[in-house]
Amino acid sequence: MSTPATLRIGGPGAGEAPGACDRCGTGRAAYTRKYSGQSLCTGCFRHSISRKVAKTVSKYDMIRDGGRVAVAVSGGKDSLALLQIMHEMSQRHNFEIDVITIDEGIPGYRDEALGIVSDVCGSLGVGHRVYAYKDLFEVSLDEALGMRQPQNRQGARGMSSCSICGTLRRRAIDIAAADVGADAVATGHNLDDMLQTFLINMLSGDTDKIAWMGPGGATGAAAADAGGHSGANPRRIKPFCEIYESEIVFYAFASGLPFQQEPCPHMNEGIRTEIREFLNSLESERSGIKNSMYASVLRIVQMAHGRVATPGLRETGGPDGATTTPATPATPSESTGKRRSSCTRCGASCTGGAGGICSVCETMARLGRICR
Ligand SMILES: [Zn+2]
Ligand SMILES: [Zn+2]
Repeated sequence: MSTPATLRIGGPGAGEAPGACDRCGTGRAAYTRKYSGQSLCTGCFRHSISRKVAKTVSKYDMIRDGGRVAVAVSGGKDSLALLQIMHEMSQRHNFEIDVITIDEGIPGYRDEALGIVSDVCGSLGVGHRVYAYKDLFEVSLDEALGMRQPQNRQGARGMSSCSICGTLRRRAIDIAAADVGADAVATGHNLDDMLQTFLINMLSGDTDKIAWMGPGGATGAAAADAGGHSGANPRRIKPFCEIYESEIVFYAFASGLPFQQEPCPHMNEGIRTEIREFLNSLESERSGIKNSMYASVLRIVQMAHGRVATPGLRETGGPDGATTTPATPATPSESTGKRRSSCTRCGASCTGGAGGICSVCETMARLGRICR
């Protein structure tokens, strides 16, 4: 990956001479989008990603004029690419960004990423704060995993490493966003992540969670907070929701981003990996199938909100120009019929889990940290 010419990913087969960029005509094509046939040089490719993200942000009204956005940066390719693009946007538009990083407490893994994020923020001149599980919840992730009963370590609902980590991360991000005074939290979830999550929810019977799967923003349906804690404020936004993961990988390499490549040691090699490979194999034979599936996901999310598209709704255009937006967006709690209340133990706003306690308190109770 030393020169742009060697970065030809997804393009014509090996041995074919690289041609000129379809956009500028002078640069050497380095990336070909199979679903559109367009070949771009690295400069034009990076520009195309920035423009596409700006269109997504505008389409879903993700960022408020004069707003403050907390960009959640883990140190992986998606979040560092997101930081790069949000920083560029904040230079040209009227909003500010802060970077928040959640430190789960995974020795030897998070340390490298924290160093990368700190360096990038320093070079961009962006504020950066780290929030550790240990400080927020009195246990690190590794400590929490060690506290599980042996029978809960494999497959028990809600007690997988990714499930515990996700529950704590959602709360940590809410706390961090409030701490920096942000009215929106941007995460690096890409189109592939959205499709995988949708299929996981479908296959596991968690259809309630689908209602929470929107891209975020004022017209983008609900925040993706299926953990029961309030996502109403600050809003969760996903500016990369219409970008293929493969394009973010190329953007990160083409931009020289120093991202952490080592996967999380607790990464569940379960169904998400299988679904990821399944979708990639479909896409390789049927270019653009992820785009059309995402348009379907958006329609289903709206249906889950009781907002089935009817004639007269404003056409706003999804990845394929097919989505509709209701005139009056409903809040998640209104539209799914779930009443929001406060956790009877910690007071956090939630949709009320077992015994009226939130998902974080429920997790801590199951780990024996607190009494119900
Ligand atoms: Zn070009
Ligand atoms: Zn609670």
